[in-house]
Amino acid sequence: MATFGNLSDRLAETFKNLRTKGKLSAADVDGTVREIRRALLDADVALEVVKDFTGKVRERALGDEVSKALNPAQQVVKIVNEELVEILGGQQRRLEFAKKPPTIIMLAGLQGAGKTTLAGKLAKWLAKDGHTPILVAADLQRPNAVTQLEVVGAQAGVPVYAPEPGNGVGNPVKVARDGVTYAQQKMHDVVIVDTAGRLGVDAEMMKQAADIRKAIDPDEVLFVIDAMIGQDAVATAKAFQDGVDFTGVVLSKLDGDARGGAALSVASITGRPIMFASTGESLDDFEPFHPDRMASRILD
Ligand code: GDP
Repeated sequence: MATFGNLSDRLAETFKNLRTKGKLSAADVDGTVREIRRALLDADVALEVVKDFTGKVRERALGDEVSKALNPAQQVVKIVNEELVEILGGQQRRLEFAKKPPTIIMLAGLQGAGKTTLAGKLAKWLAKDGHTPILVAADLQRPNAVTQLEVVGAQAGVPVYAPEPGNGVGNPVKVARDGVTYAQQKMHDVVIVDTAGRLGVDAEMMKQAADIRKAIDPDEVLFVIDAMIGQDAVATAKAFQDGVDFTGVVLSKLDGDARGGAALSVASITGRPIMFASTGESLDDFEPFHPDRMASRILD
């Protein structure tokens, strides 16, 4: 994955040096941990996550599991892999469907994060799996957001609930609520509610998202974050956690060539799992997120 190419290369180089050694001294371990630390920081992984990660790797690498291993270097790589999986959320977390349909999924995030695109991706993916999703256009901030969702819905082959002119225009909470009621009436089993974002975090936007959340009581709130926003990812995620809270994270634009480490820190910092990854502009550039597969890709 382009986003982690550099990190991947750096770690590969570190492990290549390590493999030339037989038994590992404490100095070897420390040297390796230092290189890993630098590679993670250069990839924009948040400092507190890096500290925690390298602390755990170091402690394990100095312990019995490495000193008694047949191949100590390989054991260190295995430890790094396991700890990386932990940072990325451990087990894969699937969508939770409501016992009584419809399952309500609310999307939140900054403007441009990729929410509207994600709405289409998720809907298409769910429809392929036999669900009958509907999209609700509760982003009334941007003039063309409703039209954009309608285009995405048409591409995904999924209906869109949008406010009628004069009814609910300007009131996203009402549109969201009406959309959910409409979905119930039409027997859709999943409702995906797109909400407005701003270019930066602001109080009014957060309140609107919180009000929508209160009004529709979603089963999942997915926080969509652009992996390319770098260091801001952590502060943005914390602001959304405080303001709306979310049940899962979606990393978007993982196809970009920016350093994606900050986005990788989000699960660890918020304690919320990364559930999906978005890897391009087409509706098919989308996949459930598997922490173990991502760790393997980075360490490949
Ligand atoms: P929203 O404001 O959060 O609804 O964001 P949009 O869905 O409108 O996306 C903003 C821009 O990013 C659009 O031009 C999308 O085509 C693009 N985009 C969304 N997801 C991805 C992705 O995973 N990769 C790339 N390269 N572009 C994306």
